[in-house]
Amino acid sequence: MMIKAIASNYVAFHEGIHPGTIIYSVKTGKILDTVCGNVLTEQEIFNRGWDLDSYEIVSPYLIMPGLVDSHVHLNEPGRTEWEGFETGTKAAVAGGVTTVIDMPLNAIPPTTTIENFKLKLDAAEGQLWCDVGFWGGLVPHNLDHLKPLIEAGVRGFKGFLIDSGVDEFPAIDKRYIQQALHILQGEKTMIMFHAELQLPEAGHEHTVVDHHGEGIDEFDDCNMLSTVKSLSSVEPKYGQVSELIQHHEEYPMDSIITPLEAAEYEANDKSLANVDPCDYKSFLLSRPDHFETDAISLIVDCLRNSVLKDGIERSPFVHIVHLASMEALPILKHAKEIGLPITAETCFHYLSLAAENIPESKTFYKCCPPIRSEKNRKALWNALRQGLLTSVVSDHSPCTPELKNLAKGDFFSAWGGIASVGLGIPLLYTNGASIAEIVKWCCENTSKQVGLDHKKGFLRTGYDADFAIFDMNTYQMVTNEKVYYKNKLTAYDGSKLKGLVRNTYVRGKMVFAVEGMGHSEHPLGQTILERRST
Ligand SMILES: [Zn+2]
Repeated sequence: MMIKAIASNYVAFHEGIHPGTIIYSVKTGKILDTVCGNVLTEQEIFNRGWDLDSYEIVSPYLIMPGLVDSHVHLNEPGRTEWEGFETGTKAAVAGGVTTVIDMPLNAIPPTTTIENFKLKLDAAEGQLWCDVGFWGGLVPHNLDHLKPLIEAGVRGFKGFLIDSGVDEFPAIDKRYIQQALHILQGEKTMIMFHAELQLPEAGHEHTVVDHHGEGIDEFDDCNMLSTVKSLSSVEPKYGQVSELIQHHEEYPMDSIITPLEAAEYEANDKSLANVDPCDYKSFLLSRPDHFETDAISLIVDCLRNSVLKDGIERSPFVHIVHLASMEALPILKHAKEIGLPITAETCFHYLSLAAENIPESKTFYKCCPPIRSEKNRKALWNALRQGLLTSVVSDHSPCTPELKNLAKGDFFSAWGGIASVGLGIPLLYTNGASIAEIVKWCCENTSKQVGLDHKKGFLRTGYDADFAIFDMNTYQMVTNEKVYYKNKLTAYDGSKLKGLVRNTYVRGKMVFAVEGMGHSEHPLGQTILERRST
Protein backbone atom coordinates (compact mmCIF):
# COMPACT_ATOMS: atom_id res chain seq x y z
CA MET A 1 0.00 0.00 0.00
CA MET A 2 1.45 3.31 -1.09
CA ILE A 3 1.42 5.50 2.02
CA LYS A 4 2.28 9.18 1.99
CA ALA A 5 2.16 12.03 4.44
CA ILE A 6 1.72 15.75 4.03
CA ALA A 7 2.22 18.34 6.76
CA SER A 8 2.28 22.07 7.36
CA ASN A 9 2.35 24.60 10.15
CA TYR A 10 -1.07 25.61 8.81
CA VAL A 11 -3.67 22.89 8.40
CA ALA A 12 -7.37 23.76 8.22
CA PHE A 13 -8.95 21.17 10.49
CA HIS A 14 -12.56 21.48 11.53
CA GLU A 15 -11.21 22.55 14.95
CA GLY A 16 -9.28 25.46 13.43
CA ILE A 17 -5.97 26.27 11.75
CA HIS A 18 -3.16 24.41 13.48
CA PRO A 19 0.15 22.75 12.64
CA GLY A 20 -0.72 19.27 11.48
CA THR A 21 0.29 16.06 9.76
CA ILE A 22 -1.94 13.98 7.50
CA ILE A 23 -1.10 10.40 6.56
CA TYR A 24 -2.98 9.01 3.57
CA SER A 25 -3.13 6.07 1.20
CA VAL A 26 -2.67 6.66 -2.51
CA LYS A 27 -4.21 3.27 -3.18
CA THR A 28 -7.48 3.75 -1.33
CA GLY A 29 -7.44 7.53 -1.62
CA LYS A 30 -8.35 7.81 2.07
CA ILE A 31 -6.87 9.71 4.99
CA LEU A 32 -5.38 7.10 7.34
CA ASP A 33 -4.40 9.26 10.28
CA THR A 34 -4.28 12.93 11.24
CA VAL A 35 -2.28 14.71 13.90
CA CYS A 36 -3.53 18.12 14.93
CA GLY A 37 -0.96 20.35 16.67
CA ASN A 38 2.33 18.99 15.30
CA VAL A 39 4.38 18.67 12.16
CA LEU A 40 5.73 15.20 12.91
CA THR A 41 9.15 13.92 11.89
CA GLU A 42 9.31 10.87 9.68
CA GLN A 43 10.48 8.91 12.73
CA GLU A 44 7.48 10.05 14.76
CA ILE A 45 5.18 9.00 11.93
CA PHE A 46 6.94 5.62 11.86
CA ASN A 47 6.45 5.33 15.61
CA ARG A 48 2.71 5.75 15.03
CA GLY A 49 2.85 2.67 12.83
CA TRP A 50 3.14 4.18 9.35
CA ASP A 51 5.94 3.24 7.01
CA LEU A 52 5.95 6.10 4.52
CA ASP A 53 6.75 6.01 0.83
CA SER A 54 7.06 9.78 0.75
CA TYR A 55 6.64 12.77 3.03
CA GLU A 56 6.07 16.37 2.04
CA ILE A 57 6.12 19.39 4.36
CA VAL A 58 4.46 22.30 2.56
CA SER A 59 4.84 25.15 5.10
CA PRO A 60 4.35 28.08 4.82
CA TYR A 61 1.50 27.00 2.60
CA LEU A 62 -1.85 25.97 4.02
CA ILE A 63 -3.40 22.53 3.68
CA MET A 64 -7.17 22.72 3.48
CA PRO A 65 -9.86 20.25 2.42
CA GLY A 66 -10.64 20.38 -1.29
CA LEU A 67 -13.71 22.50 -1.97
CA VAL A 68 -17.08 20.94 -2.67
CA ASP A 69 -18.74 23.30 -5.14
CA SER A 70 -22.35 22.22 -5.11
CA HIS A 71 -23.55 24.48 -7.91
CA VAL A 72 -21.81 24.12 -11.26
CA HIS A 73 -23.22 24.01 -14.79
CA LEU A 74 -21.00 21.85 -16.99
CA ASN A 75 -23.49 21.90 -19.89
CA GLU A 76 -22.45 18.55 -21.35
CA PRO A 77 -23.86 16.89 -23.40
CA GLY A 78 -25.74 19.20 -25.72
CA ARG A 79 -24.29 22.61 -25.04
CA THR A 80 -20.70 21.49 -24.92
CA GLU A 81 -19.60 24.62 -26.73
CA TRP A 82 -20.45 26.52 -23.52
CA GLU A 83 -18.34 24.36 -21.18
CA GLY A 84 -17.71 20.65 -20.75
CA PHE A 85 -16.65 18.04 -18.24
CA GLU A 86 -12.97 18.28 -19.17
CA THR A 87 -12.54 22.05 -19.21
CA GLY A 88 -14.91 22.61 -16.28
CA THR A 89 -13.26 20.07 -13.98
CA LYS A 90 -9.77 21.22 -15.00
CA ALA A 91 -10.76 24.76 -14.01
CA ALA A 92 -12.15 23.41 -10.74
CA VAL A 93 -8.99 21.61 -9.64
CA ALA A 94 -6.84 24.57 -10.69
CA GLY A 95 -8.62 26.42 -7.87
CA GLY A 96 -8.59 23.73 -5.21
CA VAL A 97 -12.09 22.39 -5.93
CA THR A 98 -12.06 18.60 -5.70
CA THR A 99 -15.79 17.89 -5.99
CA VAL A 100 -18.40 19.62 -8.12
CA ILE A 101 -22.09 18.84 -8.30
CA ASP A 102 -23.42 19.36 -11.79
CA MET A 103 -26.71 21.19 -12.28
CA PRO A 104 -29.51 19.43 -14.17
CA LEU A 105 -30.09 22.13 -16.75
CA ASN A 106 -28.35 23.73 -19.72
CA ALA A 107 -27.11 20.38 -20.93
CA ILE A 108 -29.31 18.72 -23.54
CA PRO A 109 -31.06 16.64 -22.44
CA PRO A 110 -31.52 17.93 -18.88
CA THR A 111 -31.10 15.48 -15.98
CA THR A 112 -34.81 14.90 -15.47
CA THR A 113 -35.20 11.20 -16.29
CA ILE A 114 -33.11 8.06 -15.85
CA GLU A 115 -32.57 7.85 -19.61
CA ASN A 116 -31.27 11.40 -19.68
CA PHE A 117 -29.08 10.76 -16.65
CA LYS A 118 -27.48 7.82 -18.44
CA LEU A 119 -26.62 10.04 -21.39
CA LYS A 120 -25.02 12.50 -19.00
CA LEU A 121 -22.93 9.77 -17.36
CA ASP A 122 -21.82 8.48 -20.76
CA ALA A 123 -20.73 11.99 -21.69
CA ALA A 124 -18.72 12.34 -18.47
CA GLU A 125 -16.74 9.17 -19.06
CA GLY A 126 -12.97 9.70 -19.11
CA GLN A 127 -13.27 13.47 -18.80
CA LEU A 128 -13.21 14.20 -15.06
CA TRP A 129 -10.27 15.85 -13.30
CA CYS A 130 -12.24 16.15 -10.05
CA ASP A 131 -15.05 14.07 -8.57
CA VAL A 132 -18.47 14.95 -9.94
CA GLY A 133 -21.89 14.38 -8.43
CA PHE A 134 -25.22 15.29 -10.00
CA TRP A 135 -28.42 17.14 -9.26
CA GLY A 136 -31.63 16.05 -10.95
CA GLY A 137 -34.24 18.41 -12.34
CA LEU A 138 -37.77 18.97 -11.04
CA VAL A 139 -39.84 19.87 -14.10
CA PRO A 140 -43.51 19.42 -15.02
CA HIS A 141 -44.43 15.76 -15.56
CA ASN A 142 -41.36 14.09 -14.09
CA LEU A 143 -42.63 13.17 -10.60
CA ASP A 144 -42.43 9.48 -11.53
CA HIS A 145 -38.74 9.82 -12.27
CA LEU A 146 -37.71 11.31 -8.94
CA LYS A 147 -37.36 8.14 -6.88
CA PRO A 148 -35.50 6.22 -9.63
CA LEU A 149 -33.13 9.19 -9.94
CA ILE A 150 -32.54 9.16 -6.18
CA GLU A 151 -31.71 5.48 -6.44
CA ALA A 152 -29.34 6.21 -9.31
CA GLY A 153 -27.47 8.62 -7.06
CA VAL A 154 -28.62 12.16 -7.78
CA ARG A 155 -28.10 14.31 -4.69
CA GLY A 156 -31.47 16.06 -5.01
CA PHE A 157 -33.57 18.10 -7.40
CA LYS A 158 -33.69 21.65 -8.63
CA GLY A 159 -36.76 23.44 -9.94
CA PHE A 160 -37.57 26.91 -11.27
CA LEU A 161 -40.50 29.16 -10.42
CA ILE A 162 -39.69 31.46 -13.32
CA ASP A 163 -38.76 30.78 -16.92
CA SER A 164 -35.41 28.99 -16.85
CA GLY A 165 -34.42 30.36 -20.23
CA VAL A 166 -34.18 26.98 -21.91
CA ASP A 167 -37.26 25.29 -23.38
CA GLU A 168 -36.35 21.85 -22.13
CA PHE A 169 -36.46 22.90 -18.46
CA PRO A 170 -39.88 24.48 -17.75
CA ALA A 171 -40.93 26.13 -14.51
CA ILE A 172 -43.16 24.51 -11.89
CA ASP A 173 -45.93 25.98 -9.74
CA LYS A 174 -47.05 25.82 -6.12
CA ARG A 175 -49.32 22.82 -6.57
CA TYR A 176 -46.54 20.87 -8.21
CA ILE A 177 -44.05 21.76 -5.50
CA GLN A 178 -46.47 20.46 -2.89
CA GLN A 179 -46.91 17.24 -4.82
CA ALA A 180 -43.14 16.82 -5.07
CA LEU A 181 -42.67 17.48 -1.35
CA HIS A 182 -45.32 14.88 -0.60
CA ILE A 183 -43.93 12.24 -2.95
CA LEU A 184 -40.44 12.68 -1.51
CA GLN A 185 -41.53 12.24 2.12
CA GLY A 186 -39.07 10.04 3.96
CA GLU A 187 -36.51 10.10 1.13
CA LYS A 188 -32.92 11.13 1.77
CA THR A 189 -32.81 13.93 -0.75
CA MET A 190 -33.13 17.67 -1.14
CA ILE A 191 -35.40 19.91 -3.18
CA MET A 192 -33.79 23.12 -4.36
CA PHE A 193 -35.22 26.18 -6.00
CA HIS A 194 -34.11 28.92 -8.27
CA ALA A 195 -36.14 31.38 -6.22
CA GLU A 196 -37.39 34.13 -8.47
CA LEU A 197 -41.08 34.61 -9.21
CA GLN A 198 -42.86 37.17 -11.32
CA LEU A 199 -46.39 37.61 -10.04
CA PRO A 200 -49.08 39.32 -12.09
CA GLU A 201 -49.01 43.03 -11.32
CA ALA A 202 -52.52 43.13 -9.85
CA GLY A 203 -51.71 40.57 -7.21
CA HIS A 204 -48.69 42.46 -6.03
CA GLU A 205 -48.73 44.97 -3.23
CA HIS A 206 -45.25 46.40 -3.68
CA THR A 207 -43.83 48.58 -6.34
CA VAL A 208 -40.24 48.31 -7.39
CA VAL A 209 -39.55 51.84 -6.24
CA ASP A 210 -40.25 51.41 -2.56
CA HIS A 211 -38.33 48.19 -2.53
CA HIS A 212 -35.06 49.34 -3.91
CA GLY A 213 -31.72 49.70 -2.20
CA GLU A 214 -29.74 52.86 -1.80
CA GLY A 215 -27.28 53.93 -4.39
CA ILE A 216 -29.33 52.74 -7.34
CA ASP A 217 -31.16 55.51 -9.17
CA GLU A 218 -34.77 54.94 -9.92
CA PHE A 219 -36.61 55.91 -13.02
CA ASP A 220 -40.24 55.95 -13.98
CA ASP A 221 -40.22 52.85 -16.14
CA CYS A 222 -38.85 50.56 -13.49
CA ASN A 223 -42.18 49.15 -12.40
CA MET A 224 -43.02 48.41 -15.98
CA LEU A 225 -39.66 46.69 -16.49
CA SER A 226 -40.40 44.20 -13.76
CA THR A 227 -43.93 43.40 -14.86
CA VAL A 228 -43.65 42.68 -18.57
CA LYS A 229 -43.36 38.99 -19.35
CA SER A 230 -40.99 39.57 -22.24
CA LEU A 231 -38.21 40.46 -19.84
CA SER A 232 -38.93 37.93 -17.14
CA SER A 233 -37.30 34.81 -18.49
CA VAL A 234 -34.10 34.10 -16.63
CA GLU A 235 -32.41 34.30 -19.99
CA PRO A 236 -33.39 36.25 -23.11
CA LYS A 237 -36.57 35.06 -24.76
CA TYR A 238 -36.31 37.29 -27.80
CA GLY A 239 -33.65 38.22 -30.27
CA GLN A 240 -30.68 36.57 -31.82
CA VAL A 241 -29.17 35.33 -28.56
CA SER A 242 -32.41 33.60 -27.66
CA GLU A 243 -32.40 31.87 -31.03
CA LEU A 244 -28.84 30.72 -30.52
CA ILE A 245 -29.67 29.35 -27.08
CA GLN A 246 -32.92 27.68 -27.99
CA HIS A 247 -32.37 26.41 -31.47
CA HIS A 248 -28.71 26.53 -32.39
CA GLU A 249 -29.47 27.89 -35.78
CA GLU A 250 -28.85 30.96 -37.87
CA TYR A 251 -31.49 33.59 -37.36
CA PRO A 252 -32.25 36.00 -40.19
CA MET A 253 -30.79 39.36 -39.22
CA ASP A 254 -33.78 41.42 -40.34
CA SER A 255 -36.21 39.62 -38.04
CA ILE A 256 -34.19 40.21 -34.90
CA ILE A 257 -36.23 41.81 -32.19
CA THR A 258 -34.63 42.67 -28.88
CA PRO A 259 -36.24 41.65 -25.58
CA LEU A 260 -36.84 45.33 -24.84
CA GLU A 261 -38.58 45.84 -28.19
CA ALA A 262 -40.67 42.79 -27.45
CA ALA A 263 -41.53 44.25 -24.05
CA GLU A 264 -42.56 47.53 -25.60
CA TYR A 265 -44.84 45.68 -27.97
CA GLU A 266 -46.26 43.47 -25.20
CA ALA A 267 -46.97 46.32 -22.82
CA ASN A 268 -48.02 48.64 -25.61
CA ASP A 269 -46.03 51.29 -23.83
CA LYS A 270 -43.77 53.58 -25.79
CA SER A 271 -42.02 54.82 -22.65
CA LEU A 272 -39.99 51.63 -22.61
CA ALA A 273 -38.19 53.01 -25.64
CA ASN A 274 -36.47 55.40 -23.21
CA VAL A 275 -34.90 52.57 -21.28
CA ASP A 276 -31.21 52.07 -21.98
CA PRO A 277 -30.63 48.30 -22.27
CA CYS A 278 -26.86 48.79 -21.94
CA ASP A 279 -27.24 50.38 -18.51
CA TYR A 280 -26.92 47.71 -15.80
CA LYS A 281 -29.53 49.54 -13.72
CA SER A 282 -32.17 48.83 -16.35
CA PHE A 283 -31.53 45.12 -16.06
CA LEU A 284 -31.44 45.30 -12.27
CA LEU A 285 -34.79 47.06 -12.18
CA SER A 286 -36.29 44.35 -14.33
CA ARG A 287 -35.49 41.77 -11.64
CA PRO A 288 -36.40 43.49 -8.37
CA ASP A 289 -35.88 42.05 -4.90
CA HIS A 290 -39.52 41.05 -4.68
CA PHE A 291 -38.98 38.42 -7.37
CA GLU A 292 -36.89 36.66 -4.76
CA THR A 293 -39.00 37.44 -1.69
CA ASP A 294 -42.18 36.34 -3.46
CA ALA A 295 -40.58 33.09 -4.58
CA ILE A 296 -39.09 32.29 -1.19
CA SER A 297 -42.35 33.12 0.59
CA LEU A 298 -44.15 30.70 -1.70
CA ILE A 299 -41.58 27.96 -1.12
CA VAL A 300 -41.68 28.44 2.65
CA ASP A 301 -45.44 28.27 2.48
CA CYS A 302 -45.29 24.97 0.58
CA LEU A 303 -42.77 23.57 3.03
CA ARG A 304 -44.86 24.62 6.03
CA ASN A 305 -47.95 22.98 4.56
CA SER A 306 -45.99 19.84 3.84
CA VAL A 307 -44.57 19.70 7.36
CA LEU A 308 -48.02 20.24 8.89
CA LYS A 309 -49.49 17.53 6.70
CA ASP A 310 -46.79 14.86 6.69
CA GLY A 311 -44.73 15.64 9.77
CA ILE A 312 -41.33 17.24 10.09
CA GLU A 313 -39.31 14.02 10.46
CA ARG A 314 -40.28 12.83 7.03
CA SER A 315 -40.01 16.13 5.20
CA PRO A 316 -37.28 16.40 2.57
CA PHE A 317 -34.83 19.28 3.04
CA VAL A 318 -35.42 22.39 0.98
CA HIS A 319 -32.57 24.57 -0.23
CA ILE A 320 -32.58 27.98 -1.89
CA VAL A 321 -29.85 28.23 -4.50
CA HIS A 322 -28.00 31.49 -5.20
CA LEU A 323 -29.91 33.73 -2.79
CA ALA A 324 -28.99 37.27 -3.86
CA SER A 325 -31.38 39.66 -2.13
CA MET A 326 -30.99 40.87 1.44
CA GLU A 327 -34.75 41.38 1.50
CA ALA A 328 -35.21 37.62 1.49
CA LEU A 329 -33.16 37.14 4.65
CA PRO A 330 -35.94 37.85 7.19
CA ILE A 331 -38.20 35.31 5.45
CA LEU A 332 -35.48 32.69 5.64
CA LYS A 333 -34.77 33.59 9.26
CA HIS A 334 -38.38 33.19 10.24
CA ALA A 335 -38.66 29.86 8.41
CA LYS A 336 -35.66 28.57 10.31
CA GLU A 337 -36.95 29.91 13.61
CA ILE A 338 -40.19 27.98 13.25
CA GLY A 339 -38.12 24.87 12.62
CA LEU A 340 -38.62 24.29 8.92
CA PRO A 341 -35.91 22.18 7.24
CA ILE A 342 -34.54 24.88 4.93
CA THR A 343 -31.07 26.14 4.02
CA ALA A 344 -29.74 28.68 1.53
CA GLU A 345 -26.55 29.41 -0.31
CA THR A 346 -25.14 32.53 -1.90
CA CYS A 347 -22.43 32.89 -4.54
CA PHE A 348 -18.92 34.29 -4.87
CA HIS A 349 -20.17 37.04 -7.18
CA TYR A 350 -22.86 38.35 -4.83
CA LEU A 351 -20.19 38.65 -2.14
CA SER A 352 -17.48 40.25 -4.24
CA LEU A 353 -19.27 42.45 -6.79
CA ALA A 354 -21.77 45.30 -6.51
CA ALA A 355 -24.18 46.85 -8.99
CA GLU A 356 -22.76 50.35 -8.50
CA ASN A 357 -19.46 49.22 -10.01
CA ILE A 358 -20.77 47.40 -13.06
CA PRO A 359 -19.91 49.39 -16.16
CA GLU A 360 -22.24 50.01 -19.06
CA SER A 361 -22.53 47.18 -21.61
CA LYS A 362 -20.38 44.72 -19.63
CA THR A 363 -22.80 41.85 -20.00
CA PHE A 364 -20.41 39.31 -18.51
CA TYR A 365 -21.67 40.62 -15.14
CA LYS A 366 -25.19 39.48 -15.95
CA CYS A 367 -26.61 36.66 -13.91
CA CYS A 368 -29.99 35.82 -12.41
CA PRO A 369 -30.87 36.79 -9.77
CA PRO A 370 -28.79 39.88 -10.45
CA ILE A 371 -25.83 41.27 -8.55
CA ARG A 372 -27.40 43.93 -6.34
CA SER A 373 -26.24 47.01 -4.40
CA GLU A 374 -23.17 47.39 -2.21
CA LYS A 375 -25.45 47.62 0.82
CA ASN A 376 -27.00 44.33 -0.21
CA ARG A 377 -23.57 42.74 -0.65
CA LYS A 378 -22.62 43.66 2.92
CA ALA A 379 -25.90 42.28 4.24
CA LEU A 380 -25.17 38.91 2.60
CA TRP A 381 -21.79 38.79 4.34
CA ASN A 382 -23.51 39.44 7.66
CA ALA A 383 -26.07 36.72 7.00
CA LEU A 384 -23.28 34.24 6.31
CA ARG A 385 -21.47 35.18 9.48
CA GLN A 386 -24.67 34.81 11.47
CA GLY A 387 -25.16 31.35 10.00
CA LEU A 388 -28.39 32.28 8.25
CA LEU A 389 -26.82 31.55 4.88
CA THR A 390 -24.76 28.41 5.22
CA SER A 391 -22.76 27.92 2.04
CA VAL A 392 -21.06 29.73 -0.81
CA VAL A 393 -20.88 28.29 -4.32
CA SER A 394 -19.81 29.42 -7.76
CA ASP A 395 -22.98 28.91 -9.83
CA HIS A 396 -20.42 28.56 -12.62
CA SER A 397 -22.56 29.13 -15.69
CA PRO A 398 -20.55 30.03 -18.76
CA CYS A 399 -21.60 30.41 -22.38
CA THR A 400 -20.00 31.34 -25.68
CA PRO A 401 -18.95 35.00 -26.17
CA GLU A 402 -21.61 35.45 -28.89
CA LEU A 403 -24.32 34.71 -26.34
CA LYS A 404 -22.98 37.45 -24.08
CA ASN A 405 -23.68 39.82 -26.93
CA LEU A 406 -20.76 42.02 -25.92
CA ALA A 407 -20.63 43.93 -29.20
CA LYS A 408 -24.06 45.37 -28.48
CA GLY A 409 -23.83 45.32 -24.71
CA ASP A 410 -27.59 44.89 -24.29
CA PHE A 411 -28.10 43.32 -20.86
CA PHE A 412 -31.58 42.06 -21.74
CA SER A 413 -30.42 40.11 -24.76
CA ALA A 414 -27.30 38.55 -23.19
CA TRP A 415 -27.21 35.11 -21.64
CA GLY A 416 -26.94 35.37 -17.87
CA GLY A 417 -24.31 33.48 -15.95
CA ILE A 418 -20.89 34.08 -14.47
CA ALA A 419 -17.97 31.72 -14.95
CA SER A 420 -16.09 31.34 -11.69
CA VAL A 421 -15.53 27.72 -10.67
CA GLY A 422 -12.08 27.52 -9.09
CA LEU A 423 -11.85 31.21 -8.18
CA GLY A 424 -13.70 30.90 -4.90
CA ILE A 425 -10.89 30.62 -2.37
CA PRO A 426 -8.99 33.77 -3.42
CA LEU A 427 -12.23 35.68 -4.08
CA LEU A 428 -13.50 35.10 -0.54
CA TYR A 429 -10.05 35.51 1.00
CA THR A 430 -9.52 38.84 -0.77
CA ASN A 431 -12.90 40.04 0.45
CA GLY A 432 -12.04 39.35 4.07
CA ALA A 433 -13.17 35.81 4.78
CA SER A 434 -10.94 33.84 7.12
CA ILE A 435 -9.65 30.43 6.08
CA ALA A 436 -11.87 28.85 8.73
CA GLU A 437 -14.89 30.61 7.23
CA ILE A 438 -14.02 29.49 3.71
CA VAL A 439 -13.64 25.90 4.92
CA LYS A 440 -16.98 26.08 6.74
CA TRP A 441 -18.93 27.63 3.85
CA CYS A 442 -17.30 25.95 0.85
CA CYS A 443 -16.14 22.54 2.15
CA GLU A 444 -18.01 21.45 5.26
CA ASN A 445 -21.44 22.94 4.70
CA THR A 446 -21.54 22.18 0.98
CA SER A 447 -20.55 18.57 1.60
CA LYS A 448 -23.35 18.36 4.18
CA GLN A 449 -25.77 19.87 1.70
CA VAL A 450 -25.02 17.19 -0.88
CA GLY A 451 -24.94 14.30 1.60
CA LEU A 452 -21.20 13.67 1.33
CA ASP A 453 -20.05 14.88 4.75
CA HIS A 454 -19.05 11.32 5.70
CA LYS A 455 -16.23 11.42 3.15
CA LYS A 456 -15.61 14.92 1.81
CA GLY A 457 -15.15 18.46 3.09
CA PHE A 458 -13.14 17.62 6.23
CA LEU A 459 -9.54 16.60 6.97
CA ARG A 460 -10.38 13.57 9.08
CA THR A 461 -9.31 9.95 9.31
CA GLY A 462 -11.37 7.84 6.94
CA TYR A 463 -12.23 10.76 4.66
CA ASP A 464 -11.09 11.18 1.06
CA ALA A 465 -7.59 12.61 0.77
CA ASP A 466 -8.82 15.69 -1.12
CA PHE A 467 -6.47 18.61 -0.45
CA ALA A 468 -5.98 22.15 -1.66
CA ILE A 469 -2.56 23.65 -0.94
CA PHE A 470 -3.02 27.40 -0.65
CA ASP A 471 -0.43 30.16 -0.55
CA MET A 472 -2.05 32.77 1.70
CA ASN A 473 0.67 35.38 1.25
CA THR A 474 0.93 35.92 -2.48
CA TYR A 475 -1.22 37.77 -4.98
CA GLN A 476 -2.49 36.66 -8.35
CA MET A 477 -3.91 38.55 -11.29
CA VAL A 478 -6.93 36.83 -12.80
CA THR A 479 -7.03 37.25 -16.57
CA ASN A 480 -9.24 35.77 -19.23
CA GLU A 481 -6.18 34.25 -20.91
CA LYS A 482 -5.23 32.30 -17.79
CA VAL A 483 -8.55 30.67 -16.92
CA TYR A 484 -9.16 27.05 -17.97
CA TYR A 485 -12.77 27.52 -19.01
CA LYS A 486 -13.73 26.54 -22.53
CA ASN A 487 -14.80 30.14 -23.08
CA LYS A 488 -12.21 32.42 -21.57
CA LEU A 489 -14.50 35.12 -20.29
CA THR A 490 -14.94 35.98 -16.62
CA ALA A 491 -16.28 38.86 -14.59
CA TYR A 492 -12.91 38.95 -12.80
CA ASP A 493 -10.57 39.66 -15.70
CA GLY A 494 -7.91 42.03 -14.39
CA SER A 495 -8.75 41.45 -10.71
CA LYS A 496 -5.85 41.25 -8.32
CA LEU A 497 -6.68 38.60 -5.74
CA LYS A 498 -4.98 37.62 -2.53
CA GLY A 499 -3.84 34.01 -2.35
CA LEU A 500 -3.15 31.28 -4.87
CA VAL A 501 -3.91 27.57 -4.98
CA ARG A 502 -0.61 25.82 -5.66
CA ASN A 503 -1.55 22.13 -5.68
CA THR A 504 -4.70 20.07 -5.64
CA TYR A 505 -5.04 16.41 -4.66
CA VAL A 506 -8.04 14.24 -5.41
CA ARG A 507 -8.22 11.07 -3.31
CA GLY A 508 -4.48 11.14 -2.65
CA LYS A 509 -3.32 11.90 -6.17
CA MET A 510 -2.02 15.24 -7.35
CA VAL A 511 -4.22 16.49 -10.17
CA PHE A 512 -2.90 20.03 -10.42
CA ALA A 513 0.33 21.87 -9.69
CA VAL A 514 0.63 25.55 -10.51
CA GLU A 515 4.36 25.13 -11.03
CA GLY A 516 5.69 22.46 -13.34
CA MET A 517 3.16 19.73 -13.90
CA GLY A 518 0.03 21.78 -14.52
CA HIS A 519 -2.83 19.28 -14.76
CA SER A 520 -2.28 15.56 -14.33
CA GLU A 521 -1.92 13.82 -17.65
CA HIS A 522 -4.87 11.56 -16.99
CA PRO A 523 -8.30 12.39 -15.62
CA LEU A 524 -8.41 10.97 -12.09
CA GLY A 525 -11.87 12.15 -11.06
CA GLN A 526 -14.85 9.87 -10.57
CA THR A 527 -18.59 10.17 -10.80
CA ILE A 528 -20.33 10.13 -7.40
CA LEU A 529 -23.32 7.82 -7.65
CA GLU A 530 -23.73 6.49 -4.13
CA ARG A 531 -27.16 7.04 -2.67
CA ARG A 532 -27.47 9.69 0.00
CA SER A 533 -27.70 8.39 3.53
CA THR A 534 -28.43 11.79 5.08
ZN1 LIG B 1 -27.16 27.88 -11.64
